Amino acid sequence: LRKPKIVILGAGYGGLMTTVRLQKHLGINEADIVLVNKNDYHYETTWLHEASAGTLHHDKVRYDILDVIDRNKVEFVQGTVQQINKEEKKVILENGEIDYDYLVIALGGEPETFGIKGLKEYAFGITNVNSSRLLREHIEYQFATYNTEEEKNDTRLTIVVGGAGFTGIEFLGELTNRIPKLCHEYDIDPHKVKVICVEAAPTVLPGFDPELVQYAVSQLERKGVEFLIGTAIKECTPDGILVAKGEEEPREIKAGTVVWAAGVRGNSVIEKSGFEAMRGRVKVAKDLRVPGFDDIFIIGDCSLVINEEINRPYPPTAQIAMQQGECAARNLAALVRGKSDLEEFKFDNKGTVCSLGEHDAIGVVFGKKLTGTSASIMKKVVDNRALYMIGGAGLVLKKGKFNVF
Ligand code: FAD
Ligand code: NAD
Repeated sequence: LRKPKIVILGAGYGGLMTTVRLQKHLGINEADIVLVNKNDYHYETTWLHEASAGTLHHDKVRYDILDVIDRNKVEFVQGTVQQINKEEKKVILENGEIDYDYLVIALGGEPETFGIKGLKEYAFGITNVNSSRLLREHIEYQFATYNTEEEKNDTRLTIVVGGAGFTGIEFLGELTNRIPKLCHEYDIDPHKVKVICVEAAPTVLPGFDPELVQYAVSQLERKGVEFLIGTAIKECTPDGILVAKGEEEPREIKAGTVVWAAGVRGNSVIEKSGFEAMRGRVKVAKDLRVPGFDDIFIIGDCSLVINEEINRPYPPTAQIAMQQGECAARNLAALVRGKSDLEEFKFDNKGTVCSLGEHDAIGVVFGKKLTGTSASIMKKVVDNRALYMIGGAGLVLKKGKFNVF
């Protein structure tokens, strides 16, 4: 009897969680499990602001996929997914094809640039290991170049961050910890450095607790960040950005570095494969399958799940991606065993913690507000928990964060 073949695309939070749970739930003789990922490593997307600012080396935010999967049960294929052929049940890779009986799409997000001119060409993103180390290197290059030029160009030392969502704020927290070190290393007067955060909404961290937002803003301002609120980035150029407040005429801010942290969308593979989607995210059924395709699950940043309390989609987070992975694994195990009534996914929101640099943070955890050291310790607990859920205590010892004070 032929075993059903389960193919999981993406070894991020959602895909790896599905894989490690499936290898627990299913015996070797029950299914063939194949995990496909672009790189041979997993990276903690939620730690990329640290790698991007250069406060944590990129090797600390990644680990080998083969270290956490059971090679007797899971075949790992390193490859880049181009498209999914739903009708023929095939995944098209850059160099090959894989057929499937059941598919899990967990390919994560991509930056959403909303068609704003110049962003793709000139702005840096906090998206993966490649983009993060490029950004880190670029910032360092600007500092290193400053004192080598006869005519000093202060705009080399201006860094603009587009978006004061969680990614922008977490990056600013790390960046403002790194800048004094860069100034020291490259003999630069710290007063010459400018860090500007441009946010289109009327507030930083729109929708988050106002008291905690106020705490974050004052901490970051103290560390030198200038916030331009209610101001949108309209264009990015090789020299900086154009911004506008409301209907005002756009004005230029010259900057050596522009970081775009103002939005994410689902992976472009989703649209290339002809799924009905909103910004690359597919509204999945309650059991996480794609309506009309009983053999395809979509989880993580490529999926859209409605929070019925407010009738709006849940924000794409690692927390929800991991919980979806657990649910998808249980549902796949049920399907393989011939069951047809699948579990409905229910998001259990444990809260949100936003880092403001290594020893500072804000958060709401189990409904309780936290700031400063207690929030920062909680952030490390959350980071270590994600490692534990995928790779157990061994992975926590290898990659965990223990420097709490
Ligand atoms: P990911 O974890 O991003 O994984 C996608 C995987 O797919 C990657 O391994 C990638 O290499 C692979 N891949 C992509 N394209 C292809 C392809 N074509 N072929 C093959 N493989 C491919 N969420 C929280 O809950 N808490 C936080 O504190 C938090 N902090 C964040 C901090 C930052 C700086 C950022 C950017 C995001 C943060 N998020 C946080 C959001 C969270 O990281 C994402 O929602 C989460 O990573 C989504 O998980 P995923 O499994 O969908 O994708
Ligand atoms: P986001 O969409 O949450 O925030 C983007 C911000 O950019 C918004 O505040 C928006 O108003 C602003 N913006 C949009 N267009 C703009 C423009 N033209 N000019 C200036 N500002 C503009 O994106 P994100 O911060 O990257 O977060 C993505 C997802 O990842 C979210 O679901 C978030 O919850 C999650 N995340 C969570 C954490 C955490 O829990 N600590 C950290 C990072 C990201």
